[in-house]
Amino acid sequence: MNQSNLTKPDCFDVPEELTALSLARAHILDALTVRPATAKVNLHEAHGRILAQNLLAPADVPPVNNAAMDGFAVRSADLPEHGERSLAVAGIALAGKPFDGNVESGSCVRIMTGAAIPDGADTVIAQEHVIGDMEANPIVIDAGHKAGQNMRPRGEDLAAGDVVLKAGKRIGAAELGVLSSMGFDRVPVFEQLRVAVFSTGDELREPDVTLDHGLIHDCNRPILRALVTQLGCSLTDLGILPDQYEVVRDALAEAATDHDVIITSGGVSTGVADYVTRALQELGDLGVWRIALRPGRPFAHGRIGACEFFGLPGNPVAVMVTFDQLVNPALGTLAGLSPVDSPFRFRLPCTEALRKKTGRTEVYRAIMYREANGTLSVKSTGKQSSGLLKSMSDANCFILLEHDDESTSVGQLVDVIPFSD
Ligand code: AMP
Ligand code: MG
Repeated sequence: MNQSNLTKPDCFDVPEELTALSLARAHILDALTVRPATAKVNLHEAHGRILAQNLLAPADVPPVNNAAMDGFAVRSADLPEHGERSLAVAGIALAGKPFDGNVESGSCVRIMTGAAIPDGADTVIAQEHVIGDMEANPIVIDAGHKAGQNMRPRGEDLAAGDVVLKAGKRIGAAELGVLSSMGFDRVPVFEQLRVAVFSTGDELREPDVTLDHGLIHDCNRPILRALVTQLGCSLTDLGILPDQYEVVRDALAEAATDHDVIITSGGVSTGVADYVTRALQELGDLGVWRIALRPGRPFAHGRIGACEFFGLPGNPVAVMVTFDQLVNPALGTLAGLSPVDSPFRFRLPCTEALRKKTGRTEVYRAIMYREANGTLSVKSTGKQSSGLLKSMSDANCFILLEHDDESTSVGQLVDVIPFSD
C-alpha cells in the first residue's frame, strides 16, 4: 500500500487503488490527537459518560458480614454433628437494625437477609431448615449444616483499595450501581464530545416537505443523530448544505470553531457537485479514500484546526456501515473510551452461501435467529443493494467477510457483529 495515498491526496486526485478497511481504520486511529478534557458530574448525570480515572474502593463492600437468607444466626461450634440441638432465640437482627449483643453458646438470633451477623455468630441456618416451628423458642436444628453457610462475608464484592472501575469504562446501569455501593456521588468523567452533523446535496429535503420531481428526503441526518447520541456525544444538527462551494466551506469553517468533530454525508466522491472534499482541502488536511469496503466507499477523514472531520458516503446504508467500522472506533478514542481491539464479534453458521470478492471487506445486513433445536444461525436479509435501507431495519447484525475471504458455502461459520440497540 502506498502510504502517500493515505495522507493528503489532492482533491479530485483520489487514489485509484482501494485502501483496505483495516488499514484505513488504523490510519485514522493513529492520526487522532485530541485528549479529552475531564469534569466531575453528579452520579445521576453519569449514565453513558466515560470514566476519566481509575476508581478505588474506599471501603469494603459489603461493609460487614451479613445474612444471605432469612433464618437464624448461630455459632458454628453449636452445630450438632449428629441428632438435633435446641438453641435459645436471644433476639432479632433486621437489615439496617443490627442485634446489639453477643450470640452466646447455646443461643441464636433470628436474622433477616442483609442484616449484620451479630458478634459470636458465623453461620446462618435458613428458616425453612429449622426442625418444627420456627416461631418457637428455643428452635431446633439438625445435623448436616456447614460452618459459614448462608453468610455474605465483608468485602466479598469489593475490597477496600481494589481498582473497581478503570478509566475509559463507559458508565452503564451496573457501573452506576457499583459507584453508589462505593458511596461516590460525584464521578470523574471525560467531557462529552461535541459533534456537528451535516447532510449535503441539492436533492435533499426535510421529511415534512412534499417532494418535487428529482428530490428525496434526507435520511442520513436522523441516522447520524441517533448513532452519535447513542455514543454519549453532544450533538448539533446543522441541517442540509446545498451543493455550493462557498456555503459548504463557510459552514464547515464555522462548525469547526466550537465542535470536536464534524460528520457529513454525501459529497465526498469525485463528482462535479462534490464540494465537501474541495472545501476541506482548502480549510485543513484531508484524506479521501476509496475504501475496499462494500458498501462504503468513498470516505474522507481530515482535520480543520483542532476539529476532526469525517466525510461519509451519501448512500444511507453505506453511512451506517462506515459509521460502524470507522467513525465509531474513532469517536470512542476521542471520547476517552478504552481502546478495544475490534468490535465484539462471534461466529455463527450461515444458512446460505454468500458471494464474496476477495480484496475487499464485505458487510452483509443479516438476521441471527434461534433454530428449533435451540442453536443460533445467521442468514442475510436478502438482496444487499446499498439502496435498500429498510433491510438495515430488518437486520439485527452484520455478517463481516474479511478483505481476503472468499465466497462462503451453506453452513459455513461467518463473523457476526450484533447491533447494540
Ligand atoms: P453523493 O456522494 O453526494 O453523490 O451521494 C450518493 C448518493 O446518496 C446519492 O444518490 C444521494 O442522493 C444519496 N444521498 C446523499 N445524501 C443523502 C441523505 N442525506 N439522505 C438520503 N440519501 C442521500
Ligand atoms: Mg451529493
